[in-house]
Amino acid sequence: MSKPVAVVTGASSGIGAASAKALAGAGFEVVLGARRLDRLEEVAEACGGRALELDVTDQTSVDAFTDAIDRCHLLVNNAGGAVGAETILEAKDEDWQWMYETNVMGTLRVTRALLPKLLESGDGQVINIGSVAGREPYATGGGYNAAKHAVAALSRVLRLEMFGQPIRVCEIDPGLVQTDFSLVRFRGDQDKADAVYEGTNPLTAEDVAETVSWVATRPPHVNVDQILLLARDQTSARVINRSE
Ligand code: NAP
Repeated sequence: MSKPVAVVTGASSGIGAASAKALAGAGFEVVLGARRLDRLEEVAEACGGRALELDVTDQTSVDAFTDAIDRCHLLVNNAGGAVGAETILEAKDEDWQWMYETNVMGTLRVTRALLPKLLESGDGQVINIGSVAGREPYATGGGYNAAKHAVAALSRVLRLEMFGQPIRVCEIDPGLVQTDFSLVRFRGDQDKADAVYEGTNPLTAEDVAETVSWVATRPPHVNVDQILLLARDQTSARVINRSE
């Protein structure tokens, strides 16, 4: 019997790469998408998956990516991130547009394109990687908060619209996870990125990947709607224990 197919966006690093590996370990045939094809191919090789170039901000790229996928049982919308940490007063349009295009429009484009194949599978599932930032606004988080709140809205609307259809929808909202996330947010400034995780014990990409894999392997009648996943050292977006 052929394996179920899982598609993971943003699988070239961090949570996406770890999720692709975890899903392969759980018995899925994995299709990995991201812009950095060299890194993507390394991850694909490690998990026996298929690497396909994908820029979720570009409809032509999304079309080429999704056209190359015949069967799809699970879509993990993980591509995303933050750029900048300015106040609303100092917000830069291009940063907000990047965050909206990547997190929100990217999730919309890939989901819309793969929904017919997810439905055809007879047991489809969409897992969206949101964030604690999509539940709880914080000062200097405006653009990322707005984008992840929109991902949360999209997830819940999709769940409502798929009612009665063989599609499950889950939103996983991690808190602090040590990945390249902060390096991207601070435009390559390693010191600023390191300071985010200093003195604390954050989640790892593998912690989130295990959660993705657990959600993905529940029986078909079980829909895990939402998960807020925090490190023990974090109780809300900005309350982080740094006593280590
Ligand atoms: P990461 O290591 O920077 O991974 C981000 C991934 O998104 C990369 O694989 C990147 O690949 C991909 N990506 C970015 N823009 C893309 C585009 N236009 N098209 C396709 N892929 C794109 O950070 P991460 O922490 O694993 O982030 C994964 C997700 O978790 C994001 O949605 C993030 O918002 C969310 N999250 C992270 C944290 C955290 O603290 N780390 C907490 C909560 C939620 P390429 O650059 O190769 O395209």
